[in-house]
Amino acid sequence: MSITIYYITKNSYNLAKRLTGLFPDAVTEKFSSHKIAAAWNNSKNLIFIMATGIVVRTIAPLIKDKRKDPAVVVLDEKGRYAISLLSGHLGGANKVAKEIADFLDGRAVITTASDINEIISIDLWAKEKDLIIENWDTFSRISTRFLNSGKLKVYSDVDIKLPNDFQKTDNPDLADVLITNKTFNIQNPTSNILLYLRPKNLAIGIGCNSRTSAEEIEGSVKRVLDEYNLSFLSIKSIATIDIKGNEQGLLKFAAKYNLSLVTFTADELNSAISHKPSAISFSEAAFKATGAYAVAEPAALLASENDKLLVAKRKIGNVTIAVAELVAPILQHSITPILYIVGTGPGSIEHITPYAQDAIRRSDIIVGYGTYLELIKDLIKDKEVVSTDMTQEIDRCKKAVELALSGKTVSVISGGDPGIYAMAGLVFEILKDRNVLSIMRNEIKGSNASRIAVGVIPGISALNACAARLGAPLMHDFAVISLSDRLTPWELIEKRLAAAAMSDFVTVLYNPKSMGRPDHINKARAILLKHRSAETPVGIVKSAMRENENVIITNLRDMLNYDIDMQTTVIIGNSQTFIWNNYMITPRGYERKWSNGVVE
Ligand code: SAH
Repeated sequence: MSITIYYITKNSYNLAKRLTGLFPDAVTEKFSSHKIAAAWNNSKNLIFIMATGIVVRTIAPLIKDKRKDPAVVVLDEKGRYAISLLSGHLGGANKVAKEIADFLDGRAVITTASDINEIISIDLWAKEKDLIIENWDTFSRISTRFLNSGKLKVYSDVDIKLPNDFQKTDNPDLADVLITNKTFNIQNPTSNILLYLRPKNLAIGIGCNSRTSAEEIEGSVKRVLDEYNLSFLSIKSIATIDIKGNEQGLLKFAAKYNLSLVTFTADELNSAISHKPSAISFSEAAFKATGAYAVAEPAALLASENDKLLVAKRKIGNVTIAVAELVAPILQHSITPILYIVGTGPGSIEHITPYAQDAIRRSDIIVGYGTYLELIKDLIKDKEVVSTDMTQEIDRCKKAVELALSGKTVSVISGGDPGIYAMAGLVFEILKDRNVLSIMRNEIKGSNASRIAVGVIPGISALNACAARLGAPLMHDFAVISLSDRLTPWELIEKRLAAAAMSDFVTVLYNPKSMGRPDHINKARAILLKHRSAETPVGIVKSAMRENENVIITNLRDMLNYDIDMQTTVIIGNSQTFIWNNYMITPRGYERKWSNGVVE
């Protein structure tokens, strides 16, 4: 649980320190309204030891939505009262206030009505059961009615145990709350205050033409669900054939609504058809294109583990859709394990793509290595983190695969890009060794192998970041060489350096100097000097886009006068590269100069 405790005075500082006895991982910080504004959206629990007025004035402009705002608890300096100020239920402020009061022997000040009347809170219960509140506008009116009367009539067509305070009714017309994926045409005159709680129990089978846009897919799904009075909020997963597992529109649609994408091989789809032939319509055209006699219908059945369709195949434009309801036992767990291999860029949060941030947010567990995790600590503070030493990449990747297969959504973090001297290759090697198959690719043969959805999410690599800081050194062909001989024999590195030097490639050097082998960079420079003038521009960028960034523009002759370490990338120009206004620039082409017959 991530907690930040803010103090102002010495007394409040002392109390904050005492509270770390209760919350050992809590961060204590001196109060500053700027800090709070900056951290608000990513905060979970904020504890303020100061006057309520200060807190109210600070957070008032930041408050947005009870589903997202952090829990806010305010304490007086002596710790006599712990006031649950904001997000008492969903955010958990009531619980935190009570824990603090118990710990300090003070009193928790709780004002949410359901707690003081000791009545179950509908929103907390719904959250616990993974039910989505559809109409928040009527939520508070239903809650009030429940509090005043102590009664709540609930209709449910899913297998879910209701709390004792709820009265079950089999007639939707009489209900205050409906737990169902269907929308009823209620005859009740008071139906304007009906609350729908949506179970996530629909599997949507989808077949679509290549390059169908996410918007078209979304539009078609919505249209079909509307026609059958089914709720979009009840979608748990979308299911298709494996060769569509990489279809951009489908991936985008799934990501937008956080739906799991499940794929099946042609064989699996056909076997579903042969088991339930009456349920499914065949198509010779589908068979010719995909090897499966049908896609949408059997995919929906397989993903839901149901043997009946709720909505038989409907074709709208480029999209074919069928719907089935998940059988109860598989309602609770996510169907496909997901392993993201995420690149977090050179350092600062702004240089991490929104897509990567999203993957991290959606993950249960983050696997990575100290420095890179430190750089993104604000993003991962309420995640379970598995961190190992830098040299234990293999263990880290194995652990990540284990965790994903156990049903967790896992992000393996690499700095820069995950596919450049980083983790992506290792993860694939481990998947290959263990015969774990990626559902995103059409390479599935053995059908009893474990499956996993792998998402490689690119990041800004050191070469992009450093080139940007230098100007435009990579405008022409370039070679990238790592000087680390931990996994590559030094002779091979020298051979590649010579080849790049000889062919006039702009040359980017990663891992330029390791602790064990400080002379690598000297040797590399000597090789380049054999083919390039001593005046050739060289850019040395240390810690690009991080706090201690340092950018040097020099040349091959003088480059060793500067500090080069493992946080540094070195870019050596080609024969055309020039320095202008302290920028390092490689011209786009040689053409103009060659065409005169003169090489300058
Ligand atoms: N996957 C990473 C590279 C890992 S190898 C990427 O795509 O960037 C580690 C090397 O990358 C370092 O030794 C250094 O040469 C380079 N590097 C990584 N981050 C850097 C940064 N912020 N500034 C300069 N060089 C960096």
